[in-house]
Amino acid sequence: MTFNELGLTKPIIKAVTQKGYTHPTPIQEQSIPILLRGKDLLGVAQTGTGKTAAFALPILHHLSNLPKDKGHRRIKALIITPTRELAIQINDNFTAYGKFTNLRNTVIFGGVKQGAQTTELRKGIDILVATPGRLLDLIGQGYISLKDIRHFVLDEADHMLDMGFIHDIRKVLALLPHKRQSLFFSATMPPTIVSLSQKILGDFEKVSITPKQATAERVEQAVYYVSKKNKVKLLVHILQTEDADSVLVFSRTKYGADKIVRQLHKAKINAAAIHGNKSQNARQRALKHFKDGEIRVLVATDIAARGIDVSELALVINFDLPNVSETYVHRIGRTGRAKASGIALSFCMMDERPYLKDIEKLIKQRLPIIKEHPFPDDAVEPTPTELKPKRPNNQNRNKNRNRNNRNKKRRNFSNKQRT
Ligand code: AMP
Repeated sequence: MTFNELGLTKPIIKAVTQKGYTHPTPIQEQSIPILLRGKDLLGVAQTGTGKTAAFALPILHHLSNLPKDKGHRRIKALIITPTRELAIQINDNFTAYGKFTNLRNTVIFGGVKQGAQTTELRKGIDILVATPGRLLDLIGQGYISLKDIRHFVLDEADHMLDMGFIHDIRKVLALLPHKRQSLFFSATMPPTIVSLSQKILGDFEKVSITPKQATAERVEQAVYYVSKKNKVKLLVHILQTEDADSVLVFSRTKYGADKIVRQLHKAKINAAAIHGNKSQNARQRALKHFKDGEIRVLVATDIAARGIDVSELALVINFDLPNVSETYVHRIGRTGRAKASGIALSFCMMDERPYLKDIEKLIKQRLPIIKEHPFPDDAVEPTPTELKPKRPNNQNRNKNRNRNNRNKKRRNFSNKQRT
């Protein structure tokens, strides 16, 4: 399926093409037709699936087909999201996707002075992205009216509730016109979220992009147990023995990504890093060279890898295991796309074994361990009996307390290194 086939207007297709999107992601493919028909939507999906475009494109489509507002522009679409970062990101996406329309969008969030935001609002806005607190504040001050809202999006509903925004959301709901299209997104659907969605949505359809679905079944997965100091050696060994043309390596940190690239260069392996500390230009250049096949190995952090869509990606290597299991699913979903069958290899040192267990629980499968490699990690996993504490007498209790404190310090230190 292409964006053309989804029936979006030409200016929107031109903008997504310019962004480099060739095909809609699964959530876009499923949600856009529902939203173009004007139905409400319950989207069970998390950030990283392409859900912003899934709701932004149909909203832009509907609004650009409306006659121009007489006089001052009125806010016709409202997106509320829990954090300032997400709000900015969503607004940036609206700017990019709406580039060839005449629609205006802006973003408001707390923690900064309101002057610049109210100046924008005064100019007249079609689409408003907001965090709940600042939204209510500016409504209270008379800068914003919600009476012309036709499209309402509640994004990351589960995080909204976790962050204590439920009362704010209720207040916003009370101000919305009855006749509207509502979209409700949440990565998880516990009972409180289900009941909130029922309050917001009318006649809705559900689209669910669960991590399980996202796990490409064609992806062959395996794990290497390896110590921290041998990870690079193992990576070089794999890259020298596997004949994969394009390889995406995930590093947990930006610093780590640069270090891996330096060591690959020493081994005469063509590689580049992309992460948040690199300029947008440098990132795009590296990505282009990777897509063109001039660079064989791209080393990325999760955030930087979000926009990467390389159809012929043969191999994904998790140099570090992610501590959020869903991230693993996103990462390995980068390979095995289209007709290509992919391979995902993960390096796992002793500290990361709990992450591996979480991942296996999420994907409901045990990952095979490759034991035959030149750098096996011979650290033995402690058995449950070894972990069992001895019954402490007074003296042992103090010793244990000291040991626990030492371990705590060590854990904190390794956490710091990771971030
Ligand atoms: P989101 O889940 O909306 O945060 O999107 C995740 C990332 O995927 C963002 O970097 C988007 O720019 C990118 N993206 C969204 N839709 C597509 C698409 N159809 N093709 C390629 N990348 C996309």
